[in-house]
Amino acid sequence: MPLPIAELHLHIEGTLEPELAFELAARNGVALPYADTDALREAYRFADLQSFLDLYYALMAVLRTERDFEDLANAYLARAAAQGVRHAEIFFDPQAHLARGVGMETVVEGLWRALGSSVQNHGVSTRLILCFLRDESAESALATLDAATPYLDRITGIGLDSAEVGHPPAKFREVYGKAAALGLRRVAHAGEEGPPEYITEALDVLGVERIDHGLRCAEDPELVERLVRERIPLTLCPLSNVRLRTVDTLADHPLPALLDAGLLCTVNSDDPAYFGGYAGDNLDAVRDTLGLSDERLRELARNSFLASFLEDDEELRARYLAEVEAYVFP
Ligand SMILES: [Zn+2]
Repeated sequence: MPLPIAELHLHIEGTLEPELAFELAARNGVALPYADTDALREAYRFADLQSFLDLYYALMAVLRTERDFEDLANAYLARAAAQGVRHAEIFFDPQAHLARGVGMETVVEGLWRALGSSVQNHGVSTRLILCFLRDESAESALATLDAATPYLDRITGIGLDSAEVGHPPAKFREVYGKAAALGLRRVAHAGEEGPPEYITEALDVLGVERIDHGLRCAEDPELVERLVRERIPLTLCPLSNVRLRTVDTLADHPLPALLDAGLLCTVNSDDPAYFGGYAGDNLDAVRDTLGLSDERLRELARNSFLASFLEDDEELRARYLAEVEAYVFP
């Protein structure tokens, strides 16, 4: 039995495995520029964030109907559950779908077909987080939040993702203010390829409650101190960092140093179909390569539930935390 964890940094579009991509392409009559699943898997060996994003957006063409989004989410939940994920806070990128004529209703209701019964079907509780593409305009983010207004009973929070450099958090001050007024929780990618200053800006200007990635905080000891003091969680994604060359090798990852500093770190998969592993694979990799002890792994699992947006169900959080404490490592 795997260690029970919450996954807090997961882009549902990044769970599209080559096999499902071909299945959905056939169902929807979409031509993929790859001969077969092997050729597509080969294309998943990109060199950096931009080449990954180019492929990521191109492949979304196969997602057309509610059923497609439902199938995508169910495929993720089954894989995640098998690796110990008991709770998942799932990102989606509506602008990438709206831009190709797939409406907010199709995306949200399609995902909800799977998420609304995820506890019964997979034993995984879920929350949904709407992400804005930071390389799109602030106006586009505002229009996207407006389009999501009828579905806010399905959406727990907002996030900020895609190409980071040159798109500082402050660009999205207004939309984060509106989201806060609507009672939405706030997170943002910061300090992945962008500088540590973006982390500070996300906290001070956007009022985020968690930092996605954030590993470059390690370059600024005062910022690390602040994150520890304010108990700001980081949702780290080690295998993603290796694939996108944010770190040279996994052995260079700052996770052990950040844990030693007292940071509330969590380990997540980001875009697991593209980055070589789901949440449990990421935990296995950091255990094997960084030499984390069983108690360090338990700390990561505990952190994941503490950092999750389960304030609306503290009883459930307490049950998950009790499972973490009772877990016996093999
Ligand atoms: Zn991400």
